[in-house]
Amino acid sequence: MAEKRVFKTGDRIEQLCNTCGEERGHIVASVSKQGKITRVSCPMCASHVPYKEGTTRRASSRVGIPYDQAHTYRRGDTMIHPMFGEGEETAIVDPRKIDVLFSDRMRRLIHAHM
Ligand SMILES: [Zn+2]
Repeated sequence: MAEKRVFKTGDRIEQLCNTCGEERGHIVASVSKQGKITRVSCPMCASHVPYKEGTTRRASSRVGIPYDQAHTYRRGDTMIHPMFGEGEETAIVDPRKIDVLFSDRMRRLIHAHM
């Protein structure tokens, strides 16, 4: 499949992480002028690697729980957001904010909200 998608920094792309030894959503770290991904970053181990096209086929068996801003999330948790779909918690930004990697890009959400 030749996808003509133009990527931006911060978008999500699936790639096998050699450090984690697992296929997962990576964050686009840099793109060429033509919108082609040149480097990606793994949200779990923070490794920056060159993007290798066509190395992945997502086969997620994890089941996310619906997003709840009162819930306290941990890195690696999976959620289903009503607007953005399935996401994976990749970083705790501060006690009230998390970065979540959705199928298209990274978004910042509130958690542990009283
Ligand atoms: Zn990794």
